[in-house]
Amino acid sequence: MDLDAGAIIAALFGLLVGSFLNVCIFRLPRGESIVWPASRCARCNRALDWYENIPVVSWLVLRARCRTCGEPISWMYPLVELTTAIVFAGMYALYGPSVLGVSRLLFACSMIVLFVIDLEHRILPNVITIPGIAIGFVFSLFAPPGWLDSLIGIALGGAVPFAIAEAYLRLRGEEGLGMGDVKMLAMIGAFLGWKLMLLTLVLASFTGSVIGLGFLASGYGRTYALPFGTFLAIAALAAIVAGDPIVAWYASFYY
Ligand SMILES: [Zn+2]
Repeated sequence: MDLDAGAIIAALFGLLVGSFLNVCIFRLPRGESIVWPASRCARCNRALDWYENIPVVSWLVLRARCRTCGEPISWMYPLVELTTAIVFAGMYALYGPSVLGVSRLLFACSMIVLFVIDLEHRILPNVITIPGIAIGFVFSLFAPPGWLDSLIGIALGGAVPFAIAEAYLRLRGEEGLGMGDVKMLAMIGAFLGWKLMLLTLVLASFTGSVIGLGFLASGYGRTYALPFGTFLAIAALAAIVAGDPIVAWYASFYY
């Protein structure tokens, strides 16, 4: 990746967007507005000053604590900001300023938000996944994967997991896949098309199984439910970067 001026500007913009993503991550699961009021300390409720709101820097300067009440500030905040900055620089390097670049950025930001919310709350909010399906399809009219791939992605992402979830429920009497996962898969299919959506599902299932077996072996208990949306989010970002060569390699055995 070239560290040219464009990538650096993209990364700085990514830090600011990451700060907004933190607001979404904190407030969406609590049903709060993401535009009002200004950021506050979660404990003492004091409105933050501008210098307490600078991405990453404030967290370091404040030494991860609220200035007045001493409430610890999670390292997840700077991590989300840094990740978003890297994603912005990476997408700029991959796609430049293009419709596809904007589509991938919107998608990647949604994946970051869903990653953390599923990890912390075990939910995938409908306010992200359902509009995400529609927005992904609209972008596909103007950029890859194209509307047909996107439409098949929505159908496969929504229908196949729904059938698996139903079968699992009848066979074992427990929920294997939540409906939140299904809607998230449909959104991934809408933005990335059906091939990369299936690759995402395979990658997420594989890493989920390996880590799940690790939990079993360590005696953490078989009832510990892994946040599958968290695995889907990482797998989807990996599929964007490495997916097309993998799909081409796989297809080379058949054509
Ligand atoms: Zn405080």
